[in-house]
Amino acid sequence: MYDINKIREDFPILSRKIYNRPLVYLDNGATTQKPRCVVEAMVDEYYNVNANVHRGVHFLSQQATDLHEASRETVRAFINARSTNEILFTRGTTESINLLAFSFGEAFIHEGDEIIVSTMEHHSNIVPWQMMCERKGAKLRVIPMFDNGELDMDAYKRLFSKTTRLVCCAHVSNVLGTVNPVKDIITIAHEHNVPVLIDGAQSTPHFKVDMQELDCDFFAFSGHKIYGPTGVGVLYGKEDWLDKLPPYQGGGEMIKNVSFEKTTYNELPYKFEAGTPDYVATHALAKALDYVSALGMDNIYAHEQELTRYAMERMSQIDGMRFIGTPSHKDAVISFLVGNIHHLDMGTLLDRLGIAVRTGHHCAEPLMRRLGIEGTVRASFGLYNTKEEVDALVAGIERVAKMF
Ligand code: PLP
Repeated sequence: MYDINKIREDFPILSRKIYNRPLVYLDNGATTQKPRCVVEAMVDEYYNVNANVHRGVHFLSQQATDLHEASRETVRAFINARSTNEILFTRGTTESINLLAFSFGEAFIHEGDEIIVSTMEHHSNIVPWQMMCERKGAKLRVIPMFDNGELDMDAYKRLFSKTTRLVCCAHVSNVLGTVNPVKDIITIAHEHNVPVLIDGAQSTPHFKVDMQELDCDFFAFSGHKIYGPTGVGVLYGKEDWLDKLPPYQGGGEMIKNVSFEKTTYNELPYKFEAGTPDYVATHALAKALDYVSALGMDNIYAHEQELTRYAMERMSQIDGMRFIGTPSHKDAVISFLVGNIHHLDMGTLLDRLGIAVRTGHHCAEPLMRRLGIEGTVRASFGLYNTKEEVDALVAGIERVAKMF
């Protein structure tokens, strides 16, 4: 049973008025709203449990540590990793990718080596690799894309050479909604003995992901995009790979023994978690994952797919509507432009109607260049959006279009 009215009651912000109109929140690709259970878990921990983890023999420290480590197990189960040693807590997808770019670069990248990324990557899956390439004298190779927003898989196969060291690809494009064929991308890379990082920032909130089924080597996602708190995210890595990588940052928690002559590093996953973690956020992230699991990822997927189908159908009837990204497998993200209306004008005027959408390049400037546009308007759906909200969006777009 997917009782949307009951679900919406879990998110107090959804009953806010913006400019005296009901909020229509369609910026879930940027961040999602938080259910009560997530916020209450944070308040409860700060009020009743707070103490630094892993360091104390006292009751509160052990309780906080238990909550933090139980959250790691919740994440493990949620993505079906083999072991909690494979779950590294980070600040988010961006930090997860920076961690990997640094550590993998230090261990495995030499002058002349190549990293494959795709045309539709978010800046956070481009820039850390560029920085690493600059440090190491390596090069980026880019998987091209067809006009409908699907990757050119034949061109992908041709990008491999003896010096290919890693493939980095988004599971779902935050601009086009394309669900990339990551299973094929991973299989092909493995045929060349090349490991793969999947950026799961836009997939984990929308459908079930399974590390053992995907068989990717690394996978990154953010808590705040899956109804959890800001400032926490995850890097999954196969244990064999993580064992071979050097630490990213030095400090407390990540060491076994320190002397001025030599430091030895802690075991997994702590080797990659220097300093005090945001243990309140990890606990709240686990609550968010419990929340979506109780609703059922398959139910969330079905609900959002139906909304996307309905929105595409209704929006396609608007004069001058141009969808950016029409792949055959599309997730709950709709980028569009209408006639010659600037995306910023459309976003600003929709805001006046209480409708929150995102405008601009969406941190994907190379993709914008490929499409020959400066930016788009983006509506992205979450588990609590309704067909009435899609209707409000359509009416809003029509009203703005009439003004031009
Ligand atoms: N990758 C994709 C596909 C994204 O959509 C985003 C955020 O929009 C990120 C990475 C970066 O996530 P964060 O800002 O949470 O680190």
